[in-house]
Amino acid sequence: MGDVEKVIIIGGACAGLTAAIYTARAKLNPLLFAGHMFGGQLMMTSEVENYPGFPEGIQGPELMEKFRQQAEKFGTRIVYENVIKVDFKSRPFRVWAGGEEYAAESVIVATGARPRMLGLESEAMLMGKGVSYCAVCDGAFYKDRDVVVVGGGDSAMEEALHLTHHAKSVTVIHRRDKLRASKIMQERAFENPKINFVWDSVVEDIYDVNEGRVTGVLIKNVKTKELSEIRCDGVFIAIGHEPNTDVFVGQLTLDSHGYIKVHDHVKTSVEGVFAAGDVHDHKYRQAITASAFGCMAALECERYLAEKGLV
Ligand code: NAP
Repeated sequence: MGDVEKVIIIGGACAGLTAAIYTARAKLNPLLFAGHMFGGQLMMTSEVENYPGFPEGIQGPELMEKFRQQAEKFGTRIVYENVIKVDFKSRPFRVWAGGEEYAAESVIVATGARPRMLGLESEAMLMGKGVSYCAVCDGAFYKDRDVVVVGGGDSAMEEALHLTHHAKSVTVIHRRDKLRASKIMQERAFENPKINFVWDSVVEDIYDVNEGRVTGVLIKNVKTKELSEIRCDGVFIAIGHEPNTDVFVGQLTLDSHGYIKVHDHVKTSVEGVFAAGDVHDHKYRQAITASAFGCMAALECERYLAEKGLV
């Protein structure tokens, strides 16, 4: 174990890199673990049109690269290793990654969440080319087009309703004959003339990998086993998210879905450990909101270290 760091940041996407920019400029010399998957969900996105400051739009990976450059410019040290274990029960806090043990007076957790995937090969190959996990991010690309939404929960209804502002038609494909979504969301979706439902069906394949864009889906009725095709220009998968919190089980208080519980926006159950972004925020899930939480966590962290006389 080397010197005790003032702050360790776990997570190398919007929230983590924003926390790094702020803590680096506050001369806290942050050490950031970006894992093997630097950049998070924006690395799976193509054009980003709603991040302020880029009126022409920017590619997701390019935006993340700019975040990284800005964090490094002020001295953030980035380690491209996954954190495999933490100990927040004693002080200084300890973090294990890449076969090394690290110690820190404070920690900012910004490990994000990942959208659940269907697990199809074509889904992976067409990701960002018509397959999306975020209607707010990508819906505007489907003006007057036909899209499908997969899922039957609140997220799927929210995505479908959002897409009606852009698309010509929205077809919700759900694996059962009843929605999981709340009654009010169901009613809104049922009442919307642009939304139609395909029940008891699962997506078996997404076309067309050869063309490099979405042209339709192959679906199977789980009751009759009948196969059919739906022509569409986009597929929005909304079957839930999984927070990246496995490593914090037993260390931080999590909610029943595995998200980190916070109070005062970014404070966790352990004083001196802060959480920022999609790892606790399952409501907004935007690059700009994750960044904002990264900023809040950095400011709270700075305050905490000063109050405890640790800087
Ligand atoms: P969710 O409630 O877990 O719903 C996931 C949906 O996807 C379910 O309908 C599920 O089908 C389906 N699904 C899961 N795996 C699938 C697979 N492999 N293939 C096909 N379908 C699959 O997730 P969520 O909708 O993201 O919501 C998560 C939480 O956030 C919930 O508590 C929700 O109420 C809340 N939320 C609230 C709002 C709001 O109030 N406006 C908006 C978004 C989310 P089954 O139904 O058959 O299991």
